Amino acid sequence: MEITPFYVAGQKSTSDDILDVHHPYDGRTVGRTANATPEQVERAVAAAADVAAEAAALPAAARAAALDHISRRLAERTDEVAQLITAESGKPLKWARAEVGRGASTFRWAAEEARRFAGELQRLDTDAASAGRIAMIRRFPRGPVLGISPFNFPLNLVAHKVAPALAVGAPIILKPAPSTPLTALLLGSIMAETDLPAGMFSVLTVPNDRAGGLVADPRLPVVSFTGSGPVGYAIREAVPRKHVTLELGGNAAALVCGDWSSIEDLDWAAQRIALFGNFQAGQSCVAVQRVFVHEYLEDAFVPRLVAAVEALKTGDPTDETVDVGPMINEDAAKRVESWVDEAVAAGAHLLVGGKRVGATFPPTVLTGVPAGAKVLTEEIFGPVLAVARVTDDAAGLAAVNDSAFGLQAGVFTHNLQTAFTAHRTLEVGGVIIGDVPSYRADQMPYGGLKGSGIGREGLRSAMDDYTEPRVMVLTGI
Ligand code: NAD
Repeated sequence: MEITPFYVAGQKSTSDDILDVHHPYDGRTVGRTANATPEQVERAVAAAADVAAEAAALPAAARAAALDHISRRLAERTDEVAQLITAESGKPLKWARAEVGRGASTFRWAAEEARRFAGELQRLDTDAASAGRIAMIRRFPRGPVLGISPFNFPLNLVAHKVAPALAVGAPIILKPAPSTPLTALLLGSIMAETDLPAGMFSVLTVPNDRAGGLVADPRLPVVSFTGSGPVGYAIREAVPRKHVTLELGGNAAALVCGDWSSIEDLDWAAQRIALFGNFQAGQSCVAVQRVFVHEYLEDAFVPRLVAAVEALKTGDPTDETVDVGPMINEDAAKRVESWVDEAVAAGAHLLVGGKRVGATFPPTVLTGVPAGAKVLTEEIFGPVLAVARVTDDAAGLAAVNDSAFGLQAGVFTHNLQTAFTAHRTLEVGGVIIGDVPSYRADQMPYGGLKGSGIGREGLRSAMDDYTEPRVMVLTGI
């Protein structure tokens, strides 16, 4: 099998340290790449540091042109990229195609932001002693960025590291997840088609036990990490003086409020919660996990939810009609199964699903889950919904907040007052009114509180993050 090259300072590279990539559905080898050697990693970092000043001085036109090119090429190659995403991650093909569309639009947004990213002017003469003075605040890249991405969105979460870096003129070293490196490497091949300075990007895999060297390297002052909490917080503790952003997990909740009571309302909520609790086998940081429903609506809502979950088709992710594919590997499915078994043993009712086949775990609905069960308190990262009734909307909002995490929440209500209360009181980075917590538009600020991380992504937010404001005070104007 051919070895897919990785990119060191923009140059195709390979090594003898072979990394095979497997299809999560049937375990077959779908591709082969190689880990970068310590010398190659050193070359990538040195090149990023060397090119940083040149990259920061690139005209917006050049940055935007490169970003537009990447966006266009992704769109042109949608089928090929989608098949690669499916092959290495097990994501159903229709969702993989949607991810390519999002990836292309993330780069297009970055191009637009690159054109208008200009800083701000601030009056200083609000104080008489500062008459004749004004502050110009521009943002300059902090320096080369280390982007570390997870397996579950092999393209779009990589795009959220790379696109804002290129938009502000910061070199980037991207380290994708070892289980899904091929899509990132394909993106690297598209980046290599641009006129960006050669050292401005590297896309390379290194084994997790060697990634600490990259994290600690002082020539990479920004670390943008998306992945699990334990790894993210360990990185932050290892480099307390660096600018580290953490996009971590959660156990996102949807709340069906008392006013969400028409047949259409209930059908919409049931279908959206069923879909986005199980979307890519629940392996999304904002997959619905906990569902709270006003007690008046419980009898009407739960059968609808179960019917919507049963209507989802599970199976081979390359089948265009399949909604739910395998988990990333069998161990992940076994872990989910053990958590469901634990909840049932403690008294939860299993309404649908629950039995694993290989790496595939079926869409599952539980009710009556006792407090403290892992399916409620931890991030399950699997296709499992834990449904509970609440006595009123206020109790529902409190239940949503009863979590160690705080990424996003979905609140099904038509009531403006409830919407504003939810926005003000929910301890999350985003409140989605009238839909599931899983909604994300790639330009909006996105990130969490509590155990869900620190900082925000979304093009403009990440561009702010990768740069530092620097003030110039003009006197006598
Ligand atoms: P993970 O933490 O196992 O791995 C994430 C990345 O970190 C991978 O590239 C991995 O190789 C790397 N890594 C692992 N150990 C490392 C180390 N010691 N030093 C440096 N890098 C290291 O996570 P995963 O299983 O790939 O992804 C699932 C997790 O990601 C879930 O918790 C999910 O909620 C979270 N996630 C969060 C968001 C978000 O935007 N908030 C989005 C997607 C996924």
